[in-house]
Amino acid sequence: MHLAALYQNDSTESQLYVEVNGGYIAVDDLALEGGSPHLSGLHDVGELFELGPDAIHELDALDWVGVPPVAEHEARFAPPIRKPGKIICVGLNYLAHIEESLVSRPSHIVLFSKYSSCLVGHRGEVVRPKATKQLDYEGELAVIIGRRARGVGAGDASEYIGGFTIINDISARDLQVAEPQWVRGKALDTFAPLGPIVVDRASAPEIEEMHITTLVNGELRQDASCSLMITPVEELVEYISRDITLEPGDLIATGTPAGVAFGMANPVYLANGDEVTVTISGIGTLSSFVRAVPSTDQ
Ligand code: MG
Repeated sequence: MHLAALYQNDSTESQLYVEVNGGYIAVDDLALEGGSPHLSGLHDVGELFELGPDAIHELDALDWVGVPPVAEHEARFAPPIRKPGKIICVGLNYLAHIEESLVSRPSHIVLFSKYSSCLVGHRGEVVRPKATKQLDYEGELAVIIGRRARGVGAGDASEYIGGFTIINDISARDLQVAEPQWVRGKALDTFAPLGPIVVDRASAPEIEEMHITTLVNGELRQDASCSLMITPVEELVEYISRDITLEPGDLIATGTPAGVAFGMANPVYLANGDEVTVTISGIGTLSSFVRAVPSTDQ
């Protein structure tokens, strides 16, 4: 299934939708009539996953035929997960990105965090604060946890994955390099565009077959297969869940391939008005627009 959270009219409240044939159908419209009242009132994909692994099968069994959809161009996309308990990000997980970053390959898995205040939906705005002059993009596959996971082995990890989406790990390179912790370099407001949809695990292609491309104003910057991850997704789930309990709706950003601005000989960082699009085959395309905070705002 392809799942989304859409804002309702002009409000900041979202509802859970299912994408059918390119349009979006509100789960609320059929949950009650379909005899699944506990599927009504859900605001996002995270709340669906919190109901347990059977909920998505129940949702899949509802009859969507005849329900009028919201057209894609009319949809106002919220992040498909609005309030994840954790956004755990993996750094330096592609060899070519390590090389372009001019750092040595780490001997261990590098983890850092973002917050729910970083999230913006498809076609949302990334705000470049005055604090940075080096705003960068990182197109990445995001894994969404579907079941509570603690001490899960790599061989069982796929059972704990609810689905996949796209995340743009926006980074302020000057802050990231200048400060020993990456909080300000990675986790400022709007620094995690997410979406547009979640593809559930059963509908998603194999991770090794997924391919990431990132464009800035239509210019190709990143172009790589997810099969190039140094630590594959299943081993990431094992490593993280060894000492951190993962809950339904938690996100793991799996690292970015080569092609970020920071790695260019003459970096072209993100500027006011830029459009960044991250596409992952089998999932979709996540677009974001950069807006610089006017100097009078801060
Ligand atoms: Mg990253």
